Amino acid sequence: LRVARTIDALQLDRSKTIAFVPTMGAFHEGHLSLMRRAKQLGEIVVVSLFVNPTQFKAGEDFERYPRPEAKDFAMAEAHGVDVMFAPSPSEMYNHPQTTIHVAGVSELYDGVFRPGHFDGVTTVVAKLFNIVRPNVAIFGLKDLQQCAVIGKMVEDLNFSLILSMEETIREEGGLALSSRNAYLSLSERALAPALHRELTGLRVAGPAGLEGAKKRLTELGFRVEYLDIVDPFTMHPPESPATVRHAIVAAWLGKTRLIDNIKL
Ligand code: AMP
Repeated sequence: LRVARTIDALQLDRSKTIAFVPTMGAFHEGHLSLMRRAKQLGEIVVVSLFVNPTQFKAGEDFERYPRPEAKDFAMAEAHGVDVMFAPSPSEMYNHPQTTIHVAGVSELYDGVFRPGHFDGVTTVVAKLFNIVRPNVAIFGLKDLQQCAVIGKMVEDLNFSLILSMEETIREEGGLALSSRNAYLSLSERALAPALHRELTGLRVAGPAGLEGAKKRLTELGFRVEYLDIVDPFTMHPPESPATVRHAIVAAWLGKTRLIDNIKL
């Protein structure tokens, strides 16, 4: 593994196909599955590790976000990652005056509850795409709306790369792996699988089950921000019975905000 702290140090061999996995670190099996996929899709695997300040709003967990850097490098090395791009905030941002805003799809759901979040995401991902210039970029469907927003950005701005969106990796009980699960207390951890359980219940119940699911989560102690069934490409209500649909949820457990989704 080669660690590049600056754009100049990246020095990628552009005669090879490059598969790229953007991350904020604190690696778990979800990140590792993306790295394994990247190994299949490209000759060189580049992973970025950057806790991007601009996608956190004031009062969110930017400062306390876990940063186990040495452990992350060792895990990436063990998974055959060739280059880790781990820039400082000042390497990435020099008093920028430009942002990318994907109207529509970024303004719903997480865009409502985390204003500015997706502008931070699309701007940093566009920068990373221009820095790394990958042939393929790999993202997790765990962040479903992020996939939709980045997909629209790539289409609208004609980024010349393939996007590969990968299935969510879960614990035994169904809880989606997330770096933020580290914030959960033991009792919260015991409750957290209810999120996935309620999502799967909607496979049978459909939209009629949304109110009951929200009520049960609230009774367990979740503070539900949204629970809905959407078209995963537009985040709008499914247009026809044939439309692919995902059940999506965001809910707080104590001081931890969890999101999840499943294909119905
Ligand atoms: P993050 O470091 O949280 O920004 O995530 C980096 C990438 O890993 C994103 O594309 C996420 O969607 C993806 N990811 C996060 N959690 C999971 C998971 N449980 N399964 C699969 N991919 C995931």
